[in-house]
Amino acid sequence: MEFALSEAQRAIRTGADTFARDHLNEDWVDHDRSGRFPRDAWRRCAAFGIQGAMVPASLGGQGLDVLSTVLMLEGLGYGCRDNGLPFALASQMWSLQAALMRFGDDAQKARYLPELCRGERIGAFGITELDSGSDTYALQTRCEKTERGYTLNGRKSYVTLAPVADMAIVFATRDPALGRWGISAFIVDSSTPGFRTSQVVDKMGMRTCPMGELILEDCQVPEHHRLGPEGAGASIFSTAMESERGYIFACQLGAMQRQLEDAVSYARERQQFGQAIGKFQSVSNRLADMKLRLELSRMLLYKAAWLDASGHPSAMDAALAKLQLSEAFVDSSLDSIRTYGARGFVTEHEVERDLRDGIGGLIYSGTSDIQRNIIARLLGV
Ligand SMILES: Cc1cc2nc3c(=O)[nH]c(=O)nc-3n(C[C@H](O)[C@H](O)[C@H](O)COP(=O)(O)OP(=O)(O)OC[C@H]3O[C@@H](n4cnc5c(N)ncnc54)[C@H](O)[C@@H]3O)c2cc1C
Repeated sequence: MEFALSEAQRAIRTGADTFARDHLNEDWVDHDRSGRFPRDAWRRCAAFGIQGAMVPASLGGQGLDVLSTVLMLEGLGYGCRDNGLPFALASQMWSLQAALMRFGDDAQKARYLPELCRGERIGAFGITELDSGSDTYALQTRCEKTERGYTLNGRKSYVTLAPVADMAIVFATRDPALGRWGISAFIVDSSTPGFRTSQVVDKMGMRTCPMGELILEDCQVPEHHRLGPEGAGASIFSTAMESERGYIFACQLGAMQRQLEDAVSYARERQQFGQAIGKFQSVSNRLADMKLRLELSRMLLYKAAWLDASGHPSAMDAALAKLQLSEAFVDSSLDSIRTYGARGFVTEHEVERDLRDGIGGLIYSGTSDIQRNIIARLLGV
């Protein structure tokens, strides 16, 4: 594995950081408090090339490799002080777009990817239901074959971007008794009769990224909107999840870097007992732990991306990266709050927000328990 980044790769990361600082940091505290999705910022990100980072140039993207895309998102997460918008972008890119690029036919790719890259469409990826979370393939949403396509009935819950989605990939089964073999994936436009989305579900963190339900009531989907072969839904989902779990935290890596730099500055400035609090070993040890978590996270993330880009299997590394990055951000957010004392607890200084934003990472793309299960299974346990 090559540890040195090329000049071009460093420029991608720095460029995204500069773009985010210059164009994404206005009004975001108000947006976080009110839970407002910044659609105008979404379009600015598209114009900069975020959504299209990995999409081939022929379909309106930049055609970057996985590692370069990870670096772009890391720069975005470092420069953008709102964690919700980068999470929303990464969610669309690594699940919906990744599945479309890998499993979509030429017509499906041409219809959706250019508009997603331009920020004119927003896409959600719905598999979770109220009674099937970690036990994903126990889903109950039904697809019934008709003469012209399929009728979908069911409800997807806790779906990122659902309330603002113009389209979605949803998973449904022909018969729940068939388990994973009965599941197919479908592309549904929001204008399809029988498709609607819920209001925004209020939540503790990532508040600028709306979450909600996708509701399918006798929703008629033409046959050419099926993604991949019939019955291939489970393998489409698990492939998309491998990329999502590996890289959705790239922005969070940038946020962890920013968080550490802010905490170090504060520890150098804040005086107690006649000296900077950073001089107390209890405080500096916490900062050292934050640095260790950051660098471990970075290595695992880059390694997963490097393996992927060079055609090696990366399932183990994607699960390790997801587990490390999600838990490290929560632990470091707590250490950051401890460093700031009461200033870390009150909302005025925006230190507590990282903890609120970080908690969701322990759950989405497979909980930490599920990542440990995957790692143990790959170890042959
Ligand atoms: C911020 C956020 C964004 C999300 N975005 C999306 C999205 O875009 N699309 C989508 O479809 N879903 C999305 N989800 C839903 C997410 O995928 C599920 O919440 C997740 O799979 C867990 O399911 P659950 O909440 O039903 O918990 P459960 O599966 O009920 O788990 C509850 C507890 O039991 C544990 N547990 C369950 N099974 C096992 C097991 N086999 N071994 C060990 N422990 C186990 C879990 O680890 C957890 O601690 C999102 C969730 C969050 C928080």
